[in-house]
Parts: sequence; C-alpha cells; structure tokens
Amino acid sequence: MTTGSPAADEPAVSLTSSDHVVVVGAGLAGWRLVQGLRREHFEGAITLVGAEPHPPYDRPPLSKQVLRGRWASDATGLASEEDVARAQVTLRLGVAATDLDVADTTVHLADGSAVAGTHVAVATGVRARRLALTSREVHTLRTRDDAARLAARLDSLPPASEVAIIGGGFIGAEVASAVAVRGHLAIVLEAAARPLIAVLGPEVSAWLEPLPARAGVTLLNDQHVVDVVDGDDDLRVVFDHGGDLAARLVVVGVGAVPNDDWLATSGLVLDNGVVVDRHLVAVPGVAALGDVARFTWDGPLGEELVRVEHWQVANDHAARLAHWWATGEPVATPLVPYFWSDQYGTKIQVLGHPRPDDEVTRVAGDDQRWLALYSREGVVSGVVALAQPRALTLSRGLVERPTSVAEAHRLAPWAR
Ligand SMILES: Cc1cc2nc3c(=O)[nH]c(=O)nc-3n(C[C@H](O)[C@H](O)[C@H](O)COP(=O)(O)OP(=O)(O)OC[C@H]3O[C@@H](n4cnc5c(N)ncnc54)[C@H](O)[C@@H]3O)c2cc1C
Repeated sequence: MTTGSPAADEPAVSLTSSDHVVVVGAGLAGWRLVQGLRREHFEGAITLVGAEPHPPYDRPPLSKQVLRGRWASDATGLASEEDVARAQVTLRLGVAATDLDVADTTVHLADGSAVAGTHVAVATGVRARRLALTSREVHTLRTRDDAARLAARLDSLPPASEVAIIGGGFIGAEVASAVAVRGHLAIVLEAAARPLIAVLGPEVSAWLEPLPARAGVTLLNDQHVVDVVDGDDDLRVVFDHGGDLAARLVVVGVGAVPNDDWLATSGLVLDNGVVVDRHLVAVPGVAALGDVARFTWDGPLGEELVRVEHWQVANDHAARLAHWWATGEPVATPLVPYFWSDQYGTKIQVLGHPRPDDEVTRVAGDDQRWLALYSREGVVSGVVALAQPRALTLSRGLVERPTSVAEAHRLAPWAR
C-alpha cells in the first residue's frame, strides 16, 4: 500500500463481516461513525479508542448549559451503557493512540498495546490552543473535565468577580455569556479590531459588535495579552503596551489545534489536519473525519480543501464515511457546513463556508435580527443569520448548489 497522498477517489471495497474497524477518538464523530456503521448493517468488529476516560459526550452544552450551572458536566453523554451494548463495540477508554501503522492498519496505544484492524478511522478532533502564560490558574475549554473545573471555579467566586476572557471568538463569547449570566463581570480581551472579523469579515463583525454590551459584558478590542501572572489574591493580565488588568479568573479561548501529532510518522499527509479526499479517505483502509479532517469539499464555488470544527459536519462526516465504507457508494446529497453559536442572549447561525473577504449583503431584518448573504465571484458562498432561524433554514438551498446572487434575490427564500 502506498502512503503519503490522499486516495483520490480510490474505489471503496465494501466492508464484510470479517472486517474490523478501529475508530480512534471517542468523541462525536467517532461515536456517530460507530452508530452509522451499524445502521449500514456492518456486522464485523468495531473498537473505539478514546484518550479521555469518559464514554462519548457532547461538547456544545459544555460552554452553554454546563458553564451556566444548569447541567452537571456528566449530563452531556452521547452513549448510554445500553447504546454501547447495542452497538457491540469494544471500548478502549482512557488510553491515547500514539502511532498508526498504515500498512497493516494497526493502532498503537499509550499503554504499549496495539489494536490491529482492517480499517482505521481517525476522529481525534482538536485541542484548545494554549498561550505561553506563566500563571498556572488559566482555564481553557475543550473537554468535559475542563468544563467541570471551570464551572466549579465560577461557583467558588464571590458575586460580581472580574473574569477575563482572552479571545472574543465563538468559545470566548459563549464563556463570557455564561460568566455574565452567573452575575460575574465578564471582560473579553480581543486581539483583533473586532471579534470574528477574521472569520465573518468587517461588515458582519461590526453588526455583531454591540452584542456583548447588551448582555452586560465588557469588550475590549486590540488587546494583546503577553502574560498572566499571579497576584496576591487575584491574577494580573499583562498587555504588550505595559498596562495590566486584575481578574479573579482567566479563561483563554484562542482557537484550536488538530490532534494529528500522534500520526507524525504514519506517512499520512498532515497539513493543518489529516488530509483526506471527498470520501474522507486518506489511503485505502484509513480515513479521517470530524474536526481533525482536512477534506475535499465540493462547495457551490467548486472544490476546496477545508477543515471545519462544527458539530453538524462531524455528524455528516460519520454518516458519509459509514455509507462509503459499507456500500462503496457516496451519499448523494451535498454536504452543507452548518454552525450555530448561542452568545450574548441570541443565536448566530452560519450555512456554507463564507470567507471574511466575501461580498456581504444584508437581505432581511434589522439591527437586532438579520440575514446576511455572502458571495464570491457572483455566487452565493454562505448565509449568516442573527436570531433568524427560520429564514436561515429556508435559505439552505442557496448554498446546496451554485446559486448566483441575482438568482438568490429572485428566489428570496428568506421572505417566504
Ligand atoms: C465548548 C464547546 C462548544 C461548542 N459549541 C458548538 C456549537 O455551539 N456549535 C457547533 O457547531 N459546534 C460547537 N462545538 C464544536 C463541536 O463540539 C465539534 O465540532 C465536535 O465535537 C467535533 O467532533 P469530533 O469527534 O471531531 O471531535 P471531539 O468531539 O473533540 O472528539 C475527539 C476525541 O478524540 C480524543 N482524542 C484525541 N487524541 C486522541 C488520541 N491520540 N487517541 C485517542 N483519542 C484521542 C479526544 O479526547 C476527544 O474525545 C463546540 C466545541 C466546544 C469544545
């Protein structure tokens, strides 16, 4: 078997009951793949390997219900004991994969053991990006344990404590919202001119800029944090301009890094994630899915190599890979990336794969609730909504297939 380049539409050989699929990463994509394979009537063995000690759980509620103190962190489970038994999957939890031998599809684990399969699916997700800060009491939020630790720390603070959140992106905004709901003083420190400007572009980030204040959150833009140091009974956030800010608690939300280091010597192509083809296949018998996968996406503007850290894409990947491996046939419907974020008392939703330098037109709504159409070369590339869930759902067809901006305005699905 050759390694080192994506399989480029290799014909799949359908799984048989003598096959053994090893799924590495017991998160959303990994668990959904297990379920998908069984739904596709795969009767062979499945082993699910997970670095964390917990059975598969869901992450979106961690920054929402769990941080707000409404759910316990262990209420976000995806797979009950009955689900695991029904799926007839062997769980290897609390042990990380350390290496993959592609030629014999064998996964080596941190405890010295190995699992030899016929197929390996890499679903190891991403981890929170860290900053080189000297205080040890700085939180990040990616795992259930992170959320439990942070929620307990928020519980322990006196009312109206200052909490600094470094990074005003989606995670930072959701953390700040939860902090404010708990009656603490959330201060978001954003390095850019505005939060989300590098994701959604100048217009839409400007439309979103008033949201933190409405939710009682302080937003400070153009803030470059160089350190967080321990004070007497608080922490001090130090900026590049020499000033500092006192806070009882500091949370860092500055993006994520793909968990592909364990594949460094595997021969797979690693380039901001595991590079795979449109069927999520890296080389025959080895695939990657979910947040860690950099996949060929047939979008409305043609083929793009993308890595998407969204819940719905992880689900869709799992269903597609299960179908491809089980039947050798691709799923016929197009994959449309979808993302939502609940922040500052409202909901942002994104369909498609808009870029920050795309053209943007507000096609419906007002300053409080709107729908924005993104386009590139005259073709719709994405739709972004603030508190307009119905209009967003109705607009899905515009990004499922190439649609000109003129055609989008003629159809105006958001006005239905
Ligand atoms: C706090 C939070 C809030 C979110 N909110 C939203 C939201 O509102 N909307 C939205 O669309 N998306 C949201 N997301 C993103 C969404 O949760 C992810 O897209 C989704 O979890 C991706 O699934 P995954 O299986 O690819 O990765 P994960 O869910 O991260 O699962 C990967 C698993 O692999 C394990 N692993 C890593 N390395 C190894 C190894 N070497 N060996 C074995 N196991 C390993 C990890 O421990 C992890 O359990 C949120 C994410 C977070 C963290």
